Amino acid sequence: MKIDFDKNGDGLVPAIIQDAVTKNVLMLGYMNQEAFEKTQETKKVTFFSRTKKRLWTKGEESGNFLELVDIKNDCDDDSLLISVKPVGPTCHKGTDTCWNEENTSNFGFLSQLEEVITQRREASDSSKSYVASLFEKGINKIAQKVGEEAVETVIEAMDDNDDLFLYESADLLFHYLILLQAKGFTLKDIEAELVKRHK
Ligand code: AMP
Ligand code: ZN
Ligand code: ZN
Ligand code: ZN
Repeated sequence: MKIDFDKNGDGLVPAIIQDAVTKNVLMLGYMNQEAFEKTQETKKVTFFSRTKKRLWTKGEESGNFLELVDIKNDCDDDSLLISVKPVGPTCHKGTDTCWNEENTSNFGFLSQLEEVITQRREASDSSKSYVASLFEKGINKIAQKVGEEAVETVIEAMDDNDDLFLYESADLLFHYLILLQAKGFTLKDIEAELVKRHK
């Protein structure tokens, strides 16, 4: 891998640290050639600390290491994207990432849809909004609706019509997102539960 350590004149390139599973950006550090090589040898992310002015293996005191999964250089070889499995919280303040934890939603359009559902719920004009009317009818009705869409999805899965299967799957997922919110949860909570089991 080509890395231009001399570009800034200080022998350092920025290294963006990304969670291999959730894809959240966890922290930013700097590497010189030596730190880069040590990271590859030990499979634990090692930076050159600009304050300590020495090699710094993240986790050397706390035990919260960043286990190396993959390293990529960027288009002009002057920065790194490092995919890791974090052991414990990455930030020394005790959070998973060095940025606001609310910044970590990463389900793309599904996250956007979660926000729309929240807005409809809060606006609660049930004459205009299907979602608001579901919330008004209450949790049992929403749960029942998820059950119906699940059954429809199962029926289409057994049939040979992919279009109908996709259509009912979308219905199911949409109503499931509503049920999650009605119960006070988000997709992130489900993801956390799945990640927990994966370990
Ligand atoms: P650690 O490498 O986790 O054992 O932490 C050792 C020290 O490095 C901490 O006391 C902090 O001063 C610093 N440190 C740890 N994690 C971070 C981080 N994510 N960003 C900046 N500084 C950190
Ligand atoms: Zn670049
Ligand atoms: Zn931090
Ligand atoms: Zn349906």
